[in-house]
Amino acid sequence: MPEMHFKVQWPNGTTEDCYSPSWVIEEHLSAGSNYSVSEFVERTSLALNIASDRVRQKYGFACSSALDQLAAIQATASALSPSERSSEVRVLGFRKHAPRDARAGARAAQRSLESHYPVVVIGGGQAGLSVSYCLMELGIDHIVLEREKVAHSWREERWDTFCLVTPNWQCQLPGFPYHGSDPYGFMVKDEIVKYIEEYVAFFNPPLEEGVSVSHVRRLGERFELVTSLGTITADQVVLATGGYPIPIVPRAAAKLSAAITQVHSSDYKNPAQLPPGEVLVVGSGQSGVQIAEDLHLAGRKVHLCVGNAPRCARVYRGKDVVEWLHEMGYYEVSIDKHPNKETVREKTNHYVTGRDGGHDLDLRKFALEGMRLYGLLTGIDGAAFQFAPGLTANLDGADEVYNSINRSIDAYIEKAGISAPPPTVYAPVWAPNQEVLSIDAAAQGITSIVWCIGFHTDYAWVELPVFDAQGHPLHQRGVTPVPGLYFIGLPWLHTWGSGRFSGVGRDAHHIVGKVSELISARADGAGAFELAALGS
Ligand SMILES: Cc1cc2nc3c(=O)[nH]c(=O)nc-3n(C[C@H](O)[C@H](O)[C@H](O)COP(=O)(O)OP(=O)(O)OC[C@H]3O[C@@H](n4cnc5c(N)ncnc54)[C@H](O)[C@@H]3O)c2cc1C
Repeated sequence: MPEMHFKVQWPNGTTEDCYSPSWVIEEHLSAGSNYSVSEFVERTSLALNIASDRVRQKYGFACSSALDQLAAIQATASALSPSERSSEVRVLGFRKHAPRDARAGARAAQRSLESHYPVVVIGGGQAGLSVSYCLMELGIDHIVLEREKVAHSWREERWDTFCLVTPNWQCQLPGFPYHGSDPYGFMVKDEIVKYIEEYVAFFNPPLEEGVSVSHVRRLGERFELVTSLGTITADQVVLATGGYPIPIVPRAAAKLSAAITQVHSSDYKNPAQLPPGEVLVVGSGQSGVQIAEDLHLAGRKVHLCVGNAPRCARVYRGKDVVEWLHEMGYYEVSIDKHPNKETVREKTNHYVTGRDGGHDLDLRKFALEGMRLYGLLTGIDGAAFQFAPGLTANLDGADEVYNSINRSIDAYIEKAGISAPPPTVYAPVWAPNQEVLSIDAAAQGITSIVWCIGFHTDYAWVELPVFDAQGHPLHQRGVTPVPGLYFIGLPWLHTWGSGRFSGVGRDAHHIVGKVSELISARADGAGAFELAALGS
């Protein structure tokens, strides 16, 4: 059966990710539409009963997950206060999944895992697939377990106009570097997904989609993994579950007026998904500023909370800044040689875009065009928002980084005697006269908020001593203190490119080298034991 999830926002501001065993929901609800609570319950009740009946027709039994979902919707609706019940439920979006049997292909009939694998790779994004490729090169038996479908985060957690910020030539998956016709361009979302799908077709990894891992723990020298297809063991485990798993929404969001729709950047798809009216975007990292631009270009009035994220130029002195930094060797610098090694992993990315061939993102220019800028959001009370002072300093700070990166390119050009167009310095085109420290969202006509304040990690399911007091993974270039356990795909695991397309392949080679060394060491150890057993 083709399954789907539909995400809704209740009148009290909470969001719920609902399940349906069939796509029939789409015939009864539309993404971006509002329904009175009673109409929403009526429509989902009808749709989920039809979905459950379809399961009965196909398999001979009703779908308990659909009926459980319906019960959960009914329970949430009846727990609403009378004033909330007279308000509306918003359908934020749909996530469709291919039929399970199609997903699993020919393996569907005997879908089960072996009881033991030499190596299990958890996560089928670019990091997990890169590891799989390197394992296959060395002939090491393994399996990749992916909870959804390969490239899930690129498919489902990016907005419609998303495109890479890094140029295509930086896409260096092992054995499969970017081979398209636009190396200096920036792939859009569908092209990125296609690139990863082509990678899978290229080397045909041992991959099981739709299998999640809910526990990893030690079992003697082995690991025990609880998966949605049963418990298995592995000699070694690679965690490739992504650096951005849990969207951060501040606690204050609970105090937000129910009249305001809220979505996280990972659920934002397009301007039409939000109700008519003005939009507050909170956060000015790469996602925040790109989403603010997406809304701004669509003619929406945007209010943006600006933090201390840095920015950089797209093109300087005739070349993409990424290309200059590549030539200057910046992407070769490893974390242990970085002057800010203690803090760089936590730093917000520079904002710039690859949209429409790539350009700078200048918030001052947006302000001249009507975008309203504030400092950090510090308080919410219903529809009243408070902001910290600091907008001027944050804009100045971002420009200072912009100019200082350009200055380091100037120094490189001069030292290397390269002929290039003359240097320039960014001069501010706008500055706030006075910082606005509070607004009334209702009076402004703000009807929605997009939270762009990042992600938490989520490793509660990894029951092993490989985390520091803050919950950050402990590792040396991905190799943890627990023999046979590895991380990959994390920001600055080793270099700037580690959490990106450019450096993940190098990290995969390194980690698979360590996997192979451990296999050899254990084989040698086992051999030594057998020899010893023979006696003199
Ligand atoms: C908004 C945004 C923009 C970015 N832009 C760029 C860019 O321009 N250029 C660039 O090079 N990089 C960019 N990145 C960084 C990086 O390339 C992506 O985050 C990429 O998705 C990382 O790939 P990954 O394989 O490490 O993780 P993911 O793509 O997140 O893959 C992890 C996979 O693990 C699966 N999984 C998680 N937990 C489990 C479990 N318990 N069991 C089974 N499966 C599980 C997930 O379903 C997921 O498919 C961007 C990231 C973000 C968030």
